[in-house]
Amino acid sequence: RIAYVNRRFSRHDQAVVHIEDRGYQLADAIYEVWSLFDGKLADPEGHFARLERSLSELKIAMPMSRAALTMVLKETVRQNRVREGLVYLQVGRGVAPRDHAFPHPDTPPSIVITVKAIDRVATEAKAAKGVSVITTPENRWGRCDIKTVGLLPNAMAKQAAKERGAAEAWFVDEMGLVTEGASSNAWIIDADGTVRTRATNANILRGVTRYSLLEILKEQGMTVDERPFTPDEARAAREAFITGAGALVLPVVAVDGHPVGDGTVGPVAMKLRSLYIERARATAI
Ligand code: PLP
Repeated sequence: RIAYVNRRFSRHDQAVVHIEDRGYQLADAIYEVWSLFDGKLADPEGHFARLERSLSELKIAMPMSRAALTMVLKETVRQNRVREGLVYLQVGRGVAPRDHAFPHPDTPPSIVITVKAIDRVATEAKAAKGVSVITTPENRWGRCDIKTVGLLPNAMAKQAAKERGAAEAWFVDEMGLVTEGASSNAWIIDADGTVRTRATNANILRGVTRYSLLEILKEQGMTVDERPFTPDEARAAREAFITGAGALVLPVVAVDGHPVGDGTVGPVAMKLRSLYIERARATAI
């Protein structure tokens, strides 16, 4: 495996960052994850736009132009010979003596790119069975719209899910409403067929898969309501699912051990999964 680290390609098992990298010491870095279909980046525009937004919100410079970055991402994918998988990009404020305040503006941003292969046969089998989720109190900061590497609450939540045999954890805010998953956006399909997902604000990530799926739902003429739901509403719903670059569109069959609807994989969620994959494959670059 090959990694791209600070303008060099290195063997993945020998790739290192400096001990005073601010991403390492202060989580002063952001990331993006593209899903790869046939060696190409899915939803390119959405991920680049969010990358630029995350960086600008944190006042970190784009490390290179979008065109140059696309070339480096694609070259890293090529060197890894991965066709189906995920590409991870991290951009940080760079290396500087430890101080909470920003270093000199000339400090070059840190860049890391890694590529991981995915077994699509295994992930399709997982999707066909559906996954369970647990719920956990929302305990993250107020800017979850910025895709920072500060993922400790997400890591804690995901571990709690794993210990309870679930694939994802849904954060629940103080109003009792689901915000999003530890690494995905959360959706339900109400008894009347309305597709529901929380509107985006500073409390959740503006999922790129979420956005593409909203466009698909519009094309399909389905009714969408951008309104949050409770875990009880999810259990009473006809179907539930999650979206993300890793999950794509993944049916949820249980919430905290209680079945969603009749407890089987939802046909609409599976249909939306195949529509999303078809569209992502066709528009990948
Ligand atoms: N919410 C969180 C907290 C995430 O980490 C992710 C990342 O996958 C998502 C939502 C889904 O976003 P996207 O569809 O852009 O991958």
